Amino acid sequence: MPNRPASPSLPAHRTQPDAKGFFGKFGGAFIPPQLQQQMDEINHAYHRICRSHDFVRELRSIRTHFQGRPTPVYYCKNLSDAIDGARIYLKREDLNHTGAHKLNHCMGEALLAKFLGKKKLIAETGAGQHGVALATAGAYFSIPVEIHMGAIDIAKQHPNVVRMKILGATVVPVTFGAQTLKEAVDSAFQAYLADPVSSMYCIGSVVGPHPFPLMVREFQRVVGIEAREQFLEMTGELPGNVVACVGGGSNAMGIFAAFLDDPVRLHGVEPLGRGQQLGEHAATLTYGEEGVMHGFNSIMLKDAKGEPAPVHSVASGLDYPSVGPEHAYLHRSGRTIAGTATDAETIEAFFRLSRREGIIPALESAHAVAYALKLAKQCPDESILINLSGRGDKDIDFVMEQYGALAERTDY
Ligand SMILES: *Cc1c(COP(=O)(O)O)cnc(C)c1O
Repeated sequence: MPNRPASPSLPAHRTQPDAKGFFGKFGGAFIPPQLQQQMDEINHAYHRICRSHDFVRELRSIRTHFQGRPTPVYYCKNLSDAIDGARIYLKREDLNHTGAHKLNHCMGEALLAKFLGKKKLIAETGAGQHGVALATAGAYFSIPVEIHMGAIDIAKQHPNVVRMKILGATVVPVTFGAQTLKEAVDSAFQAYLADPVSSMYCIGSVVGPHPFPLMVREFQRVVGIEAREQFLEMTGELPGNVVACVGGGSNAMGIFAAFLDDPVRLHGVEPLGRGQQLGEHAATLTYGEEGVMHGFNSIMLKDAKGEPAPVHSVASGLDYPSVGPEHAYLHRSGRTIAGTATDAETIEAFFRLSRREGIIPALESAHAVAYALKLAKQCPDESILINLSGRGDKDIDFVMEQYGALAERTDY
Protein backbone atom coordinates (compact mmCIF):
# COMPACT_ATOMS: atom_id res chain seq x y z
CA MET A 1 0.00 0.00 0.00
CA PRO A 2 2.61 2.57 -0.97
CA ASN A 3 1.67 6.17 -1.66
CA ARG A 4 -1.19 6.12 0.79
CA PRO A 5 -2.17 9.77 1.22
CA ALA A 6 -0.82 11.27 4.44
CA SER A 7 -3.50 11.56 7.07
CA PRO A 8 -3.14 13.16 10.48
CA SER A 9 -5.20 10.38 12.05
CA LEU A 10 -2.74 7.67 11.00
CA PRO A 11 0.44 6.93 12.93
CA ALA A 12 3.48 8.30 11.07
CA HIS A 13 4.97 4.90 10.20
CA ARG A 14 1.93 3.98 8.08
CA THR A 15 2.87 6.57 5.46
CA GLN A 16 6.60 5.86 5.24
CA PRO A 17 8.62 6.41 3.12
CA ASP A 18 8.22 9.89 1.62
CA ALA A 19 8.40 10.55 -2.13
CA LYS A 20 12.22 10.55 -2.03
CA GLY A 21 12.36 7.26 -0.18
CA PHE A 22 13.11 8.60 3.30
CA PHE A 23 11.90 6.89 6.45
CA GLY A 24 12.49 9.86 8.74
CA LYS A 25 16.13 10.67 8.01
CA PHE A 26 16.97 7.14 6.87
CA GLY A 27 16.86 5.78 3.32
CA GLY A 28 16.87 7.98 0.21
CA ALA A 29 19.05 7.38 -2.83
CA PHE A 30 22.73 8.36 -2.67
CA ILE A 31 23.73 7.32 -6.18
CA PRO A 32 25.23 8.70 -9.43
CA PRO A 33 22.82 10.72 -11.65
CA GLN A 34 22.74 8.01 -14.32
CA LEU A 35 21.55 5.47 -11.81
CA GLN A 36 19.07 7.95 -10.32
CA GLN A 37 17.28 8.11 -13.64
CA GLN A 38 16.94 4.30 -13.68
CA MET A 39 15.70 4.23 -10.08
CA ASP A 40 13.11 6.90 -10.89
CA GLU A 41 11.90 4.77 -13.78
CA ILE A 42 11.66 1.61 -11.68
CA ASN A 43 9.84 3.60 -8.98
CA HIS A 44 7.40 5.06 -11.44
CA ALA A 45 6.77 1.70 -13.11
CA TYR A 46 6.36 -0.09 -9.80
CA HIS A 47 3.73 2.34 -8.54
CA ARG A 48 1.84 2.11 -11.81
CA ILE A 49 2.00 -1.65 -12.26
CA CYS A 50 1.70 -2.95 -8.70
CA ARG A 51 -1.92 -1.83 -8.51
CA SER A 52 -2.93 -3.15 -11.90
CA HIS A 53 -5.42 -5.99 -11.94
CA ASP A 54 -3.20 -8.17 -14.17
CA PHE A 55 -0.15 -7.81 -11.94
CA VAL A 56 -2.01 -8.50 -8.70
CA ARG A 57 -3.84 -11.49 -10.18
CA GLU A 58 -0.68 -13.06 -11.60
CA LEU A 59 1.31 -12.57 -8.38
CA ARG A 60 -1.53 -14.12 -6.37
CA SER A 61 -1.68 -17.10 -8.68
CA ILE A 62 2.12 -17.61 -8.48
CA ARG A 63 1.99 -17.51 -4.70
CA THR A 64 -0.73 -20.15 -4.56
CA HIS A 65 0.29 -22.53 -7.32
CA PHE A 66 4.07 -22.19 -7.56
CA GLN A 67 5.26 -21.06 -4.13
CA GLY A 68 2.78 -23.03 -2.05
CA ARG A 69 1.35 -20.11 -0.10
CA PRO A 70 -0.10 -19.53 2.36
CA THR A 71 2.56 -21.09 4.57
CA PRO A 72 1.14 -22.27 7.92
CA VAL A 73 1.46 -20.84 11.41
CA TYR A 74 2.44 -23.65 13.79
CA TYR A 75 2.22 -23.87 17.58
CA CYS A 76 5.41 -25.38 19.06
CA LYS A 77 3.77 -27.29 21.90
CA ASN A 78 6.75 -29.50 22.72
CA LEU A 79 9.19 -26.62 22.80
CA SER A 80 6.82 -24.37 24.74
CA ASP A 81 6.17 -27.10 27.34
CA ALA A 82 9.89 -27.80 27.66
CA ILE A 83 10.91 -24.21 28.38
CA ASP A 84 7.96 -23.46 30.67
CA GLY A 85 7.75 -19.89 29.39
CA ALA A 86 5.75 -18.03 26.77
CA ARG A 87 3.84 -19.97 24.08
CA ILE A 88 5.97 -20.14 20.93
CA TYR A 89 4.55 -20.12 17.39
CA LEU A 90 6.30 -20.24 14.02
CA LYS A 91 5.36 -18.64 10.71
CA ARG A 92 6.68 -21.39 8.44
CA GLU A 93 8.50 -19.53 5.65
CA ASP A 94 10.80 -22.56 5.54
CA LEU A 95 7.92 -24.28 3.70
CA ASN A 96 7.85 -21.62 0.98
CA HIS A 97 9.20 -23.02 -2.35
CA THR A 98 13.05 -23.04 -2.34
CA GLY A 99 12.96 -23.15 1.45
CA ALA A 100 13.04 -19.51 2.47
CA HIS A 101 11.25 -16.18 2.32
CA LYS A 102 13.54 -14.76 -0.37
CA LEU A 103 11.41 -16.13 -3.20
CA ASN A 104 8.58 -13.80 -2.09
CA HIS A 105 10.41 -10.70 -3.32
CA CYS A 106 12.27 -12.41 -6.16
CA MET A 107 9.00 -13.50 -7.80
CA GLY A 108 7.65 -9.96 -7.34
CA GLU A 109 10.76 -8.32 -8.79
CA ALA A 110 10.87 -10.75 -11.73
CA LEU A 111 7.17 -10.26 -12.44
CA LEU A 112 7.77 -6.51 -12.49
CA ALA A 113 10.66 -7.12 -14.92
CA LYS A 114 8.31 -9.15 -17.14
CA PHE A 115 5.74 -6.34 -17.18
CA LEU A 116 8.53 -3.90 -18.11
CA GLY A 117 9.70 -6.16 -20.95
CA LYS A 118 13.17 -6.62 -19.43
CA LYS A 119 15.41 -9.23 -21.05
CA LYS A 120 17.81 -9.93 -18.18
CA LEU A 121 17.80 -10.04 -14.37
CA ILE A 122 21.03 -8.98 -12.61
CA ALA A 123 21.91 -9.38 -8.95
CA GLU A 124 24.71 -9.98 -6.51
CA THR A 125 24.78 -12.79 -4.01
CA GLY A 126 26.86 -13.48 -0.93
CA ALA A 127 26.18 -16.97 0.36
CA GLY A 128 24.15 -17.72 -2.76
CA GLN A 129 20.65 -17.76 -1.27
CA HIS A 130 19.47 -14.68 -3.14
CA GLY A 131 21.14 -15.98 -6.31
CA VAL A 132 19.27 -19.29 -6.08
CA ALA A 133 15.92 -17.57 -5.42
CA LEU A 134 16.41 -15.21 -8.36
CA ALA A 135 17.60 -18.04 -10.62
CA THR A 136 14.36 -19.85 -9.72
CA ALA A 137 12.29 -16.78 -10.63
CA GLY A 138 14.24 -16.40 -13.89
CA ALA A 139 13.53 -20.02 -14.84
CA TYR A 140 9.83 -19.54 -14.07
CA PHE A 141 9.54 -16.42 -16.25
CA SER A 142 12.08 -17.56 -18.90
CA ILE A 143 14.18 -14.45 -18.29
CA PRO A 144 18.00 -14.95 -18.29
CA VAL A 145 19.64 -14.36 -14.90
CA GLU A 146 23.17 -13.08 -14.26
CA ILE A 147 24.46 -13.48 -10.71
CA HIS A 148 27.63 -11.72 -9.57
CA MET A 149 29.43 -13.57 -6.80
CA GLY A 150 32.83 -13.11 -5.14
CA ALA A 151 35.36 -15.78 -6.12
CA ILE A 152 35.90 -16.58 -2.42
CA ASP A 153 32.17 -17.09 -1.89
CA ILE A 154 31.98 -19.26 -5.02
CA ALA A 155 34.59 -21.57 -3.50
CA LYS A 156 32.81 -21.63 -0.11
CA GLN A 157 29.23 -22.02 -1.31
CA HIS A 158 29.57 -24.81 -3.83
CA PRO A 159 26.02 -26.31 -3.52
CA ASN A 160 24.34 -22.95 -4.19
CA VAL A 161 26.61 -22.28 -7.18
CA VAL A 162 25.56 -25.67 -8.58
CA ARG A 163 21.88 -24.91 -7.94
CA MET A 164 22.13 -21.62 -9.83
CA LYS A 165 23.78 -23.36 -12.77
CA ILE A 166 21.18 -26.16 -12.85
CA LEU A 167 18.48 -23.47 -12.86
CA GLY A 168 20.16 -21.91 -15.90
CA ALA A 169 21.68 -18.78 -14.35
CA THR A 170 25.06 -17.39 -15.36
CA VAL A 171 27.37 -17.02 -12.35
CA VAL A 172 29.93 -14.24 -12.85
CA PRO A 173 32.98 -14.66 -10.58
CA VAL A 174 34.18 -11.37 -9.06
CA THR A 175 37.94 -11.44 -8.68
CA PHE A 176 38.86 -7.94 -7.48
CA GLY A 177 39.24 -6.61 -3.92
CA ALA A 178 38.28 -8.98 -1.12
CA GLN A 179 36.26 -11.04 -3.66
CA THR A 180 33.17 -11.25 -1.43
CA LEU A 181 29.74 -9.59 -1.17
CA LYS A 182 30.78 -5.93 -1.32
CA GLU A 183 32.71 -6.42 -4.58
CA ALA A 184 29.86 -8.53 -5.94
CA VAL A 185 27.50 -5.55 -5.38
CA ASP A 186 29.91 -3.23 -7.23
CA SER A 187 30.29 -5.68 -10.10
CA ALA A 188 26.54 -6.25 -10.44
CA PHE A 189 25.85 -2.49 -10.42
CA GLN A 190 28.46 -2.01 -13.16
CA ALA A 191 26.83 -4.69 -15.30
CA TYR A 192 23.42 -3.13 -14.74
CA LEU A 193 24.63 0.38 -15.60
CA ALA A 194 26.11 -0.95 -18.83
CA ASP A 195 22.64 -2.03 -19.97
CA PRO A 196 19.93 -0.44 -17.82
CA VAL A 197 17.26 -0.33 -20.52
CA SER A 198 16.93 -4.04 -21.18
CA SER A 199 18.06 -5.38 -17.80
CA MET A 200 16.62 -5.13 -14.28
CA TYR A 201 18.58 -5.05 -11.04
CA CYS A 202 16.98 -7.26 -8.39
CA ILE A 203 18.08 -6.45 -4.86
CA GLY A 204 18.05 -9.18 -2.22
CA SER A 205 16.65 -7.37 0.82
CA VAL A 206 15.01 -4.14 2.04
CA VAL A 207 18.26 -2.26 1.34
CA GLY A 208 19.79 -0.18 -1.44
CA PRO A 209 18.52 3.07 -2.95
CA HIS A 210 14.83 4.04 -3.12
CA PRO A 211 12.55 2.39 -4.27
CA PHE A 212 14.02 -1.01 -3.32
CA PRO A 213 13.42 -0.88 0.47
CA LEU A 214 9.78 -0.01 -0.22
CA MET A 215 9.29 -2.51 -3.06
CA VAL A 216 10.88 -5.47 -1.29
CA ARG A 217 8.86 -4.74 1.86
CA GLU A 218 5.64 -4.70 -0.14
CA PHE A 219 6.51 -8.03 -1.79
CA GLN A 220 7.30 -9.52 1.65
CA ARG A 221 4.21 -8.04 3.33
CA VAL A 222 2.25 -11.17 2.38
CA VAL A 223 4.07 -12.98 5.23
CA GLY A 224 2.70 -10.58 7.84
CA ILE A 225 -0.79 -10.39 6.37
CA GLU A 226 -1.09 -14.18 6.37
CA ALA A 227 0.48 -14.61 9.80
CA ARG A 228 -1.72 -12.01 11.50
CA GLU A 229 -4.90 -13.57 10.13
CA GLN A 230 -3.76 -17.14 10.88
CA PHE A 231 -2.71 -16.29 14.42
CA LEU A 232 -6.00 -14.53 15.15
CA GLU A 233 -7.94 -17.47 13.80
CA MET A 234 -5.88 -19.98 15.77
CA THR A 235 -5.83 -18.23 19.14
CA GLY A 236 -8.53 -15.56 19.03
CA GLU A 237 -6.01 -12.84 19.84
CA LEU A 238 -2.91 -11.11 18.52
CA PRO A 239 0.54 -12.36 19.51
CA GLY A 240 2.18 -10.44 22.36
CA ASN A 241 5.48 -10.48 20.50
CA VAL A 242 6.70 -10.95 16.94
CA VAL A 243 10.34 -11.97 16.51
CA ALA A 244 12.40 -12.10 13.29
CA CYS A 245 16.09 -12.21 12.42
CA VAL A 246 17.57 -9.17 10.68
CA GLY A 247 20.33 -9.25 8.11
CA GLY A 248 19.25 -6.62 5.58
CA GLY A 249 15.83 -6.99 7.15
CA SER A 250 13.42 -8.27 4.48
CA ASN A 251 11.82 -11.18 6.34
CA ALA A 252 11.48 -9.01 9.46
CA MET A 253 9.90 -6.08 7.56
CA GLY A 254 7.54 -8.50 5.84
CA ILE A 255 6.08 -9.78 9.07
CA PHE A 256 6.40 -6.48 11.04
CA ALA A 257 4.53 -4.54 8.35
CA ALA A 258 1.21 -6.19 9.23
CA PHE A 259 1.55 -5.51 12.99
CA LEU A 260 2.83 -1.90 13.04
CA ASP A 261 -0.52 -0.49 14.18
CA ASP A 262 -1.20 -3.24 16.72
CA PRO A 263 -0.26 -3.38 20.41
CA VAL A 264 2.35 -6.02 19.58
CA ARG A 265 6.03 -5.80 20.52
CA LEU A 266 8.25 -6.23 17.45
CA HIS A 267 11.73 -7.67 17.98
CA GLY A 268 14.43 -7.64 15.28
CA VAL A 269 17.25 -10.05 16.14
CA GLU A 270 20.78 -9.41 14.91
CA PRO A 271 23.81 -11.69 15.20
CA LEU A 272 26.13 -11.08 18.14
CA GLY A 273 28.53 -13.66 16.65
CA ARG A 274 31.52 -14.28 18.88
CA GLY A 275 31.12 -11.14 21.01
CA GLN A 276 30.74 -7.37 21.26
CA GLN A 277 34.06 -6.38 19.69
CA LEU A 278 33.94 -4.76 16.25
CA GLY A 279 34.51 -7.45 13.61
CA GLU A 280 33.09 -10.24 15.78
CA HIS A 281 29.38 -9.56 15.17
CA ALA A 282 26.89 -7.87 12.82
CA ALA A 283 24.59 -6.29 15.44
CA THR A 284 24.15 -3.06 13.51
CA LEU A 285 21.16 -1.55 15.32
CA THR A 286 22.72 -2.15 18.75
CA TYR A 287 26.29 -1.02 18.07
CA GLY A 288 26.18 0.96 14.81
CA GLU A 289 25.93 4.64 13.93
CA GLU A 290 24.39 6.69 11.13
CA GLY A 291 26.10 6.49 7.75
CA VAL A 292 25.67 6.04 3.99
CA MET A 293 26.47 2.74 2.30
CA HIS A 294 25.31 0.98 -0.89
CA GLY A 295 23.26 4.02 -1.88
CA PHE A 296 21.18 4.64 1.26
CA ASN A 297 21.46 6.35 4.66
CA SER A 298 21.00 4.06 7.63
CA ILE A 299 22.70 2.72 10.73
CA MET A 300 25.96 0.97 9.97
CA LEU A 301 29.01 -0.57 11.59
CA LYS A 302 32.07 1.53 10.73
CA ASP A 303 35.77 0.92 11.10
CA ALA A 304 38.24 3.59 12.33
CA LYS A 305 38.23 5.23 8.88
CA GLY A 306 34.43 5.39 8.71
CA GLU A 307 34.26 2.63 6.10
CA PRO A 308 31.92 -0.39 6.43
CA ALA A 309 33.46 -2.58 9.14
CA PRO A 310 34.21 -6.28 8.78
CA VAL A 311 31.44 -8.37 10.30
CA HIS A 312 30.96 -11.94 11.46
CA SER A 313 28.03 -14.27 12.00
CA VAL A 314 27.69 -18.05 11.98
CA ALA A 315 24.79 -17.37 9.57
CA SER A 316 26.19 -15.95 6.34
CA GLY A 317 22.80 -14.42 5.44
CA LEU A 318 23.05 -12.07 8.42
CA ASP A 319 26.61 -10.76 8.12
CA TYR A 320 25.84 -7.35 6.65
CA PRO A 321 27.35 -4.17 8.21
CA SER A 322 24.18 -2.10 7.68
CA VAL A 323 20.43 -2.60 7.90
CA GLY A 324 17.41 -1.58 5.84
CA PRO A 325 16.50 2.09 6.42
CA GLU A 326 13.00 1.32 7.66
CA HIS A 327 14.49 -0.80 10.44
CA ALA A 328 16.79 2.09 11.37
CA TYR A 329 13.76 4.40 11.46
CA LEU A 330 11.47 2.05 13.41
CA HIS A 331 14.18 1.24 15.93
CA ARG A 332 15.35 4.80 16.52
CA SER A 333 11.74 5.97 16.87
CA GLY A 334 11.10 3.31 19.51
CA ARG A 335 8.57 1.19 17.60
CA THR A 336 10.80 -1.90 17.36
CA ILE A 337 13.19 -3.56 19.79
CA ALA A 338 16.67 -4.67 18.72
CA GLY A 339 17.73 -8.01 20.17
CA THR A 340 20.77 -10.21 19.66
CA ALA A 341 21.76 -13.86 19.71
CA THR A 342 25.34 -15.15 19.74
CA ASP A 343 26.69 -17.93 17.53
CA ALA A 344 26.62 -20.30 20.52
CA GLU A 345 23.01 -19.46 21.45
CA THR A 346 22.04 -19.89 17.81
CA ILE A 347 23.56 -23.37 17.47
CA GLU A 348 21.84 -24.43 20.70
CA ALA A 349 18.50 -23.17 19.33
CA PHE A 350 19.18 -24.93 16.01
CA PHE A 351 19.39 -28.28 17.83
CA ARG A 352 16.52 -27.53 20.24
CA LEU A 353 14.02 -26.79 17.49
CA SER A 354 15.24 -29.80 15.49
CA ARG A 355 14.94 -32.18 18.44
CA ARG A 356 11.73 -30.86 20.01
CA GLU A 357 9.69 -30.15 16.90
CA GLY A 358 11.29 -31.99 13.98
CA ILE A 359 12.00 -28.71 12.21
CA ILE A 360 15.60 -27.93 11.18
CA PRO A 361 15.84 -24.12 10.93
CA ALA A 362 18.23 -22.10 8.78
CA LEU A 363 21.02 -20.68 10.95
CA GLU A 364 19.66 -17.21 10.18
CA SER A 365 16.22 -18.16 11.50
CA ALA A 366 17.79 -19.98 14.47
CA HIS A 367 18.91 -16.52 15.69
CA ALA A 368 15.24 -15.57 16.05
CA VAL A 369 14.51 -18.85 17.83
CA ALA A 370 17.46 -18.35 20.22
CA TYR A 371 16.27 -14.85 21.11
CA ALA A 372 12.67 -16.02 21.53
CA LEU A 373 13.80 -18.70 23.98
CA LYS A 374 15.42 -15.96 26.11
CA LEU A 375 12.39 -13.68 25.76
CA ALA A 376 10.01 -16.51 26.68
CA LYS A 377 11.42 -16.60 30.22
CA GLN A 378 10.75 -12.87 30.69
CA CYS A 379 7.09 -13.03 29.65
CA PRO A 380 5.82 -16.52 30.56
CA ASP A 381 2.14 -15.60 30.17
CA GLU A 382 2.47 -14.19 26.66
CA SER A 383 2.81 -15.56 23.16
CA ILE A 384 5.71 -15.18 20.73
CA LEU A 385 5.33 -15.51 16.98
CA ILE A 386 8.66 -16.21 15.25
CA ASN A 387 9.15 -15.69 11.54
CA LEU A 388 11.00 -18.90 10.66
CA SER A 389 12.56 -17.38 7.55
CA GLY A 390 14.10 -20.57 6.13
CA ARG A 391 14.94 -24.24 6.47
CA GLY A 392 18.33 -25.50 7.58
CA ASP A 393 19.19 -28.08 4.92
CA LYS A 394 21.82 -25.72 3.51
CA ASP A 395 23.53 -25.56 6.92
CA ILE A 396 23.67 -29.19 8.03
CA ASP A 397 27.18 -30.01 6.74
CA PHE A 398 28.63 -26.85 8.28
CA VAL A 399 26.94 -27.50 11.63
CA MET A 400 28.11 -31.10 11.83
CA GLU A 401 31.68 -30.16 10.82
CA GLN A 402 31.95 -27.30 13.31
CA TYR A 403 29.61 -28.40 16.11
CA GLY A 404 29.25 -32.16 15.57
CA ALA A 405 29.86 -32.93 19.24
CA LEU A 406 26.66 -31.06 20.16
CA ALA A 407 24.65 -33.60 18.15
CA GLU A 408 25.58 -36.20 20.80
CA ARG A 409 23.76 -34.29 23.54
CA THR A 410 20.32 -35.60 24.49
CA ASP A 411 19.10 -32.80 26.79
CA TYR A 412 17.62 -30.34 24.30
C1 LIG B 1 18.97 -14.23 3.44
C2 LIG B 1 18.29 -14.80 4.61
C3 LIG B 1 17.99 -14.03 5.76
C4 LIG B 1 18.43 -12.60 5.92
O1 LIG B 1 17.82 -11.72 5.03
P1 LIG B 1 16.76 -10.61 5.51
O2 LIG B 1 16.67 -9.71 4.36
O3 LIG B 1 17.32 -9.95 6.74
O4 LIG B 1 15.50 -11.31 5.82
C5 LIG B 1 17.29 -14.62 6.78
N1 LIG B 1 16.91 -15.92 6.74
C6 LIG B 1 17.18 -16.70 5.67
C7 LIG B 1 16.73 -18.11 5.69
C8 LIG B 1 17.88 -16.17 4.57
O5 LIG B 1 18.15 -16.95 3.52
